[in-house]
Amino acid sequence: MHVTSAQETWEAALGELQLQVNRANYRTWLGKTVGLSFEGNQFVVGVPTIFVAEYLDKKQRSLIEKTLMGLTKQDVNVTFQVNGRDPDCLRGIRSAPAEQATLSLNPRYTFDSFIAGEGNRLARDAALAVAQNPGHSYNPLFLYGGVGLGKTHLVQAIGNAALANQADVLYFSAEQFTNDLMNAIRSRKTEEFRNKYRTVDMLLVDDIQFISGKERTEESLFYTVNELYNANRQIVVTSDRPPRAIPSLKQQLRSRLEQGLVIDIKPPDLKTRMAILQAKSEQRGEHVDPDILELIASQVQQSIRQLEGALNRVIAYARLLRTSLTPELATHALEDIATRKPKQSTPDAILETVAQSFQLTPEDLKGRKRSKEAALARQLAVYLLKEETGCSLTQIGKELGGRDHHVISLAHQKTASDIETDISLRDKLFRIRQSLYSAGE
Ligand code: ADP
Ligand code: MG
Repeated sequence: MHVTSAQETWEAALGELQLQVNRANYRTWLGKTVGLSFEGNQFVVGVPTIFVAEYLDKKQRSLIEKTLMGLTKQDVNVTFQVNGRDPDCLRGIRSAPAEQATLSLNPRYTFDSFIAGEGNRLARDAALAVAQNPGHSYNPLFLYGGVGLGKTHLVQAIGNAALANQADVLYFSAEQFTNDLMNAIRSRKTEEFRNKYRTVDMLLVDDIQFISGKERTEESLFYTVNELYNANRQIVVTSDRPPRAIPSLKQQLRSRLEQGLVIDIKPPDLKTRMAILQAKSEQRGEHVDPDILELIASQVQQSIRQLEGALNRVIAYARLLRTSLTPELATHALEDIATRKPKQSTPDAILETVAQSFQLTPEDLKGRKRSKEAALARQLAVYLLKEETGCSLTQIGKELGGRDHHVISLAHQKTASDIETDISLRDKLFRIRQSLYSAGE
């Protein structure tokens, strides 16, 4: 194994953690973390807020340490550090007075790390033109395309380039704009709100489709865009669809948005998908054979986020099973991705998936079957029902054929502690979760 930096190690760890905690949990607590440093056995994870730091420290430290130990094959001690980004990166980004309404830019989203190909080259070139000559090439620039195709990456690449030129950049999603406006109205700070949004050099609005149907927000955004436009400030907007397809978008705002350049990002062709996988595995310091990359690229076609997810999964799989990356292993890791339909994690789906993975039926789990297999399956079912559905112990008891909640509670505790130490159990759980969820997302 070849690990070159804290961030790469952390990304591999995230790949595993993503499959060990539930989705909402992952998004909330782990989604915005970075690997900051790894010296001796001290691993420092950067987190966005003190709140996240405290939560991870209390609730997930041991799982995280176990995961990192598994990856690095050494003792690891984790600490969480709030916003460990280089302060220089933050220069020019306005501090957001009203409850963190704006996000900072991800320094990894640059033009250098963006692979251009058939589907996205025009969008990339337009974005580059805007970054090189803000306010004077295409204004507004409107980028649209499906989920995971690189809209956020591109719009932030423009922002990062402008930031490097000391420009005053404001990046936010339409949802945050809406929240910020509502807060401003509630606390009678609309003047501040206006100053914050209407005095920047560059305005980056991500996912504008969320504004649809919110009249006040639309109106306020319209005035903001207008004022900045008239002052030759650059505006870049992203959306999952073109302006005319955003339902109930007001004529004024729509024509303003259509006035510059509207350009779409299409799904990548095979060649581009290969190039992206190649670049991502290099970034991670992993050598992955071209035939394996091709295997992944041929199975995952729609979104680049899913493509990354599949690569992470294949790599994590090899690490988890402590074997080298062969086409067989990759096929195995991707098997579920190809055939799986997204399921909800309802109690029924969980019981069925768990039962299936032990070649049992849900009835076996509900019944009194005493085999070792059935007992273990039941134990994992309890654990997943608790973690994934938020069912109470009593409800879980009912789902499992009327078992007492004390029994359920014990089973849950036992599983929680067993997975900390038992790698084959973790692997089992990992596979069950894999088949419970669709790839990537
Ligand atoms: P969107 O905003 O369109 O949903 P993102 O910009 O969040 O998609 O992209 C999803 C992931 O895929 C990100 O990690 C991003 O860095 C990566 N990505 C997307 N397009 C490319 C590309 N052309 N080259 C390299 N990475 C890409
Ligand atoms: Mg996005």
